[in-house]
Amino acid sequence: MLFTDLRLIPPILKALETEGYTQPTPIQEKAIPSILKIKDLLGCAQTGTGKTAAFAIPMLQILHMRHLNTNKRAIKALVLTPTRELAIQIQESFNAYGKNVNLKNLVIFGGVGQQPQVDALKKGVDILVATPGRLLDLMNQGYISLKEIEIFVLDEADRMLDMGFIHDVKRVVAKLPEKRQTLFFSATMPAEIQKLANTILQDPVTVEV
Ligand code: AMP
Repeated sequence: MLFTDLRLIPPILKALETEGYTQPTPIQEKAIPSILKIKDLLGCAQTGTGKTAAFAIPMLQILHMRHLNTNKRAIKALVLTPTRELAIQIQESFNAYGKNVNLKNLVIFGGVGQQPQVDALKKGVDILVATPGRLLDLMNQGYISLKEIEIFVLDEADRMLDMGFIHDVKRVVAKLPEKRQTLFFSATMPAEIQKLANTILQDPVTVEV
């Protein structure tokens, strides 16, 4: 299977070609068609399997196609991830695969001053990649609204639990619109994570690699 078999649009295929990607990894092959059908997804996959591209590529395509005739910036997609390093890697992926589409992304995380992040938010963002604590801080100060979220990604859910972020995650989820597409990734599925998945996903497609 090749990326050209996955019904991807030319601006995205061109970006993948620039990256030197020709063949999707197993999780990409299974997840991309379901996500493009606007299905919720439960993905059991570790880092290194290509899971970032498995969600970033179809998200870019969906948002690009859906908002072709509007240029209003609003946070339309949120990716929650447990660490700053992962957050930066995910944003770099959106930059790489989205270089030929008109969507702006921003990464926010704690441990650094918030002002540059606030300034960047004010300029308008379509896709926000965030760690939970800083996201809640900026939401509570009124700098971020999740009212227009169409796609929510929870990355490394089991690590969120291990790092003690699960309550923060639930606080964020409580502020999301009910009508949305949710993509949930976890390397392992302990009972508490399965329970969380059951409460935030609707009729998901499950992909295991
Ligand atoms: P991830 O599992 O998302 O952390 O991705 C692992 C690494 O694989 C990253 O460095 C990606 O750039 C790379 N990668 C992801 N998908 C592909 C692909 N289809 N072909 C080649 N490299 C890829």
